[in-house]
Amino acid sequence: MLTKKLPPLERFLLLVSRRASHLARQHYDVIVVGGGHAGTEAASAASRVGARTLLVTQKVHTIGALSCNPSLGGIGKGHLVKEVDALDGVCGRAGDWAGIHFSILNRRKGPAVWGPRAQLDRQLYRQFIQSELQSTPRLTVQEGSVEELLVTEPNPEKPGYHKVTGIRLAGASLPISAQSIVLTTGTFLSGSLFMGQNTTPGGRIGDAPSSSGMSRTLRERLGLKMGRLRTGTPPRIVKASVDFDQAKLHPADSLPTPFSFINSRVRCKAEEQLPCHLTFTTPGVDQVVKESLHLNCHIQQDTKGPRYCPSIEARVIRFPGRQHQVWLEPEGLTSDLVYPQGLSMTMPPEMQLRLIREIPALHRAEIHTAGYGVQYDFVCPTQLSPALQVKSTQGLFLAGQINGTTGYEEAAAQGLWAGVNAARAALSMPTATLSRTESYIGVLIDDLVTRGVTEPYRMFTSRAEFRTSLRPDNADLRLTLKGFEEVGCVSSERYRQTARVRDSLQEALAALQEVSLSATNWRRQLPLEYISETKPGNQTGLEVLQFNDVTFEMLTYVFPERLSQYAEFSQRLKIEAIYRPHCLLQQKEIERIQKEESMSLPEDLDYLSLPVSLSQEVREILDRVRPSTLGAATRLQGVTPAAIVHLLNYIRPPSRKERRTHRN
Ligand code: FAD
Repeated sequence: MLTKKLPPLERFLLLVSRRASHLARQHYDVIVVGGGHAGTEAASAASRVGARTLLVTQKVHTIGALSCNPSLGGIGKGHLVKEVDALDGVCGRAGDWAGIHFSILNRRKGPAVWGPRAQLDRQLYRQFIQSELQSTPRLTVQEGSVEELLVTEPNPEKPGYHKVTGIRLAGASLPISAQSIVLTTGTFLSGSLFMGQNTTPGGRIGDAPSSSGMSRTLRERLGLKMGRLRTGTPPRIVKASVDFDQAKLHPADSLPTPFSFINSRVRCKAEEQLPCHLTFTTPGVDQVVKESLHLNCHIQQDTKGPRYCPSIEARVIRFPGRQHQVWLEPEGLTSDLVYPQGLSMTMPPEMQLRLIREIPALHRAEIHTAGYGVQYDFVCPTQLSPALQVKSTQGLFLAGQINGTTGYEEAAAQGLWAGVNAARAALSMPTATLSRTESYIGVLIDDLVTRGVTEPYRMFTSRAEFRTSLRPDNADLRLTLKGFEEVGCVSSERYRQTARVRDSLQEALAALQEVSLSATNWRRQLPLEYISETKPGNQTGLEVLQFNDVTFEMLTYVFPERLSQYAEFSQRLKIEAIYRPHCLLQQKEIERIQKEESMSLPEDLDYLSLPVSLSQEVREILDRVRPSTLGAATRLQGVTPAAIVHLLNYIRPPSRKERRTHRN
């Protein structure tokens, strides 16, 4: 995979324009609007499932663009990249191709919460994504701006219920029709850009916002509840003007770890990786922020911004007098620019220059492009089903920042799932489901559709209650097999590879359980003080592997004939051994949640007049969110356990036997 030749951008553009010229009145199974992180995964996933798919985006050369930080993964986000990859998505392999600085974050903690991350070369990332889409069967890419979303009149039998029929492009007379449409317009819906006191319409610098017709259809015709959020990006700094000696060097991992389960190595050689540098703000930075507040429209607005990636203005206002971290990160192998992570700002450009020069490593820095902010509309995601389909509009799916999330990884994960289900709906296949008990993608979607967002949502490991089972190392075992057998988005080649890994791991675990010694004998073989001699009987290899200082290699030394054939899985086996007892304990809870999730709540339940004992408040919450399963209802804030019991008894009245048991 890593040796594949990337075509030049020109060839891609030519191909796209040739295809576009053949477009007259056309019909597709799925149309994806927007070629950002959600859109590319959606288009690829829909095609993999078997749908004839059209990806329409404003500028094809920006497909795969990284609007903000050139990086992928991190804590929680790395899990999403691994899961997208396990479902045969694109971003993990693109990260392996474009990565120029790989590191595993959170290494001091357990492997369940490690955060695989890479700094990327912008050009290489874009090239990979474009090349990948170009070679995807059943996928057509077209440049164009979607001006209108076409929907049917409301269904008279179901007031307020519509169906999508297609799109109309700016400047085109004929519509393009489709069974399903995935909207992934990012920050472009009614987008406005902010710098100092200037505000201009835009979805991102250099790009016009999405047409107002689209927002109007969503808000007025489909009656969707929408909100407004904001984000921002730092100035890009000329590399030659940075005094790196005044910052702390942060080298990459000496052995880069690929994101993708199908790659055994990344493209960049370990020794060619570029370093990052860490520096800090000074009191002078606080001073410039305070002096420029009255010149800064973006910061004066009360729209919510990303809490976990705030602007420098927000950080100084919230934590005055504190030193804040600034990471100086490379933008690419040959790029002359540096990305100062932590310095997102929207003050006037001359104040931006004054501010960065208050930092010792940037005392003579030059700005290449000034930082700016963006405000945009999002659709309140509680109006979506777990398939990411708008509940009131058949065939309309939403994914990415339009759903109130922030970040490439969150967008990619939703894009993949919306693409899968858009294709399945178009091909009359049943909806695919992904539970929060089996994936971070499930957690992300469940949080969005049951809880909604009040500020840009980003993934953290703390959001996943079953994080000891949902690890980056086992995403393939959790999802690739299901992705092939039940979802249809995984290739048979990847499936076979994962099935082989699963079989080998099962054999290796069985072998580890078969080999055993008494504590005395273990201590004779391995120099380990803490193998308890008070524990009666033998201890298996698997039990001993749970100890901190025991490695799989040590056990192969003791039992070479039984274990050495599994050496390539040594790290996976060690992680499996550490978490096995805890995962077994969690299994019951997982089964309970899965049972509740398998109980669907009828779409047309009239919660306001349901003849069961529910408080008015609970009725209103259920009526507003309309959870699709009993499991989703249990996670709604304000819905009490007693209300869940009443609801359960209503949808599945207890049998006579259950009533008798209960009385006794
Ligand atoms: P995008 O990547 O924005 O892609 C949307 C695509 O839709 C674009 O290609 C656009 O051209 C296309 N499009 C829009 N309307 C139409 C239309 N009508 N017709 C056809 N095509 C259309 N994330 C973070 O995690 N941290 C940050 O600090 C951060 N800062 C950001 C700062 C800025 C200024 C911006 C713009 C984004 C920032 N992001 C940040 C967000 C990150 O870029 C997004 O979360 C991510 O790109 C969202 O992916 P997406 O696919 O939803 O949308």
